[in-house]
Amino acid sequence: MEVQRLAEVWLKRERRKRIEAGHPWVYRGEIAQVKGDPATGDAVQVRNHQGHFLGQGFYHDQSQIAVRIATHNDRETLDAVWLRGRMAQAYAYRKRWLPQVEFGRMVYGEADGLPGLIVDRYGAVAVLQIASAAMDKRLDSIVEAVREVFGVEAIYERSDAPTRSFEGLAPRTGCLLGPCPDEVEIKENGLRFVVDIAHGNKTGHFYDQRDNRAAIASVVRFAADEKPRPDLRYREGVEEPAVSGRRGAQVLDCFCHSGGFALHALHYGAAHVTAVDISGQALDAARRNADLNGYGERLDLVAANAFDLLREYERLERRFDVVILDPPAFAKNRQAVEGALRGYKDINLRAQKLISDGGFLVTASCSHPVSVDMWRAVVAEAAEDAHKVLRLVELRGLAKDHPQLVGMPENDYLKFAIYEVRSRG
Ligand code: SAH
Repeated sequence: MEVQRLAEVWLKRERRKRIEAGHPWVYRGEIAQVKGDPATGDAVQVRNHQGHFLGQGFYHDQSQIAVRIATHNDRETLDAVWLRGRMAQAYAYRKRWLPQVEFGRMVYGEADGLPGLIVDRYGAVAVLQIASAAMDKRLDSIVEAVREVFGVEAIYERSDAPTRSFEGLAPRTGCLLGPCPDEVEIKENGLRFVVDIAHGNKTGHFYDQRDNRAAIASVVRFAADEKPRPDLRYREGVEEPAVSGRRGAQVLDCFCHSGGFALHALHYGAAHVTAVDISGQALDAARRNADLNGYGERLDLVAANAFDLLREYERLERRFDVVILDPPAFAKNRQAVEGALRGYKDINLRAQKLISDGGFLVTASCSHPVSVDMWRAVVAEAAEDAHKVLRLVELRGLAKDHPQLVGMPENDYLKFAIYEVRSRG
């Protein structure tokens, strides 16, 4: 067998040691020299300025990300067999963590050693999202491997993320292995959801919040006689009043999309949920999902800009036991962080003002440039301005089928927290 010598990308001496710390991207400006003539998508070796091997990855001759490292092993050959092996490893990992492995993220790009490839599974249908030229060139092998490894009957492509343009790729969507249904039904934490794989956001459903949706179970029900008595209830050694029943919470779910959190709240015993989204399509999906689960009667859907509606509810002195905030990413890059923080502060402030004493704020951010510390600081500032005392109940992140590569902050984007909210004074 002919052994092909890979081109070598030698890095500068005076670069930050990001690769050594686990980051899988080599930026153009970090390269001292390319030995050989690699084409976009080719496998290359990455070496430091002394020629020590750092990893193997895929080259791009234009993109700012010049190499995406896929392995730290110099004996692997990055071919179709390797690709299939990587998927099998990714699958084994999901089987360990997911109660229902047919519903979840099967491949999470760089974190699974398949840079630029996302595979979400909706039962017998897989939805692919490709963000790198290297994976784009390997589309046929990917389709074959996904079919074989995950045993799916259909594969739909949703490669329409704007970041594709950085790799010189046009958007592309469509059925790769068929026939592909437009919609599929999935199960999540005992609830049924219809997912529109062709038109829904991203690949159709946000699996990243699955475990966080389950985490709201304990905040949407209160003891029937539970009254705000901060003086008694939280003094150490003082017993909680006997629970003579439970009452469901009044919940406001802003940015509800297809009803992910709203339906979980109803499922876990909320008395009523008001769910808000700016998109009519999202609200239609939420309505359908509510009816599918038999929760339609306890749900009000409101088409509105959540920023405006929170203000309006404040003016009307509306009160909720629980407010849920799961907005879209306000910042997609560092330049947008400041504006994003203002946005997070605004909604977290308004939401806290609507929460009845002893209720809960369930809040999230999926902006990767906004760190968890920045975001928590903003929630704390909002509490100060709203004259509230917050207690952090739980701080969480991505669901387990989105493993986070340590050293790559970009794939650790989701922040999720539950706070108890009480008035000052
Ligand atoms: N909570 C959802 C995911 C939310 S995604 C879940 O669990 O699946 C973000 C949603 O916010 C999208 O559905 C989008 O339509 C909506 N959105 C964006 N800007 C908005 C705004 N200003 N007001 C209300 N909804 C908004």
